[in-house]
Amino acid sequence: MRTKYAAGNWKMNLTFEEGQILFSEVTNMVKDEVVNPNVKVVMGVPAPYLSSFSKLINTDKVSIAAQNCHPEASGAFTGEMSVGMLASAGVDHIIIGHSERREYFNESDEFIAAKVNAILAGGLTPIFCCGETLEQREAGIHFDFVKGQLTKGLFQLSAEELQKVVIAYEPIWAIGTGVTASSDQAQEMHKALRAHLASKYGADVAANISILYGGSVKPGNAGELFAQPDIDGGLVGGASLDSRGFTDIAKAFP
Ligand code: PGA
Repeated sequence: MRTKYAAGNWKMNLTFEEGQILFSEVTNMVKDEVVNPNVKVVMGVPAPYLSSFSKLINTDKVSIAAQNCHPEASGAFTGEMSVGMLASAGVDHIIIGHSERREYFNESDEFIAAKVNAILAGGLTPIFCCGETLEQREAGIHFDFVKGQLTKGLFQLSAEELQKVVIAYEPIWAIGTGVTASSDQAQEMHKALRAHLASKYGADVAANISILYGGSVKPGNAGELFAQPDIDGGLVGGASLDSRGFTDIAKAFP
């Protein structure tokens, strides 16, 4: 049985005080309400809040994630954060390869692969993002493009390492746009990605990898998405900024 995820990506939003309220509300709701025991709730909060908010966690159903890291362990990289630093601040998951970082910060597949390696070497869990643009989908190259992102970002790993990775498929045209991929479109891609993993690592290994969908996930569409056989949860941006809505997403698993 694969681990299911409700992962929030707050991006660059909320003050410390606002974030603290949201983080505590979600932790308390997830602790007190009935959430499928196989679901991990992860909140990807802004870096300055990580150390403080990690101390608010009062249930093993909740984890805290960073939204980025640098692959080097230490050194002259002004403004950057290493995996070891994040681990020492209580972080156990790191979102990497988000399309916003790939696009606005020119992060290459090679750089993201180096981050995956560093995160695994540090004993943390990468949430590896991938996804195509609208132009790529319209040109019919979306399957090959996203499979290529997996090849370049993950295929350097051993089978044992790969099974510690969480993948998040986030079609760029669905991020923050209110346009969600239909559950059929998402399932089709997730199935193709799992088959791609199976082509290198075998079906048994591929069957163990959690593949999340991201892009305008909301309480109203989460249930249908999460009911698909290859969709193991969501990476949620906008809707993770509301404690009731995000907790309802965590409760939307069949
Ligand atoms: P969204 O963002 O839910 O606001 O579309 C998803 C993401 O970028 O991870």
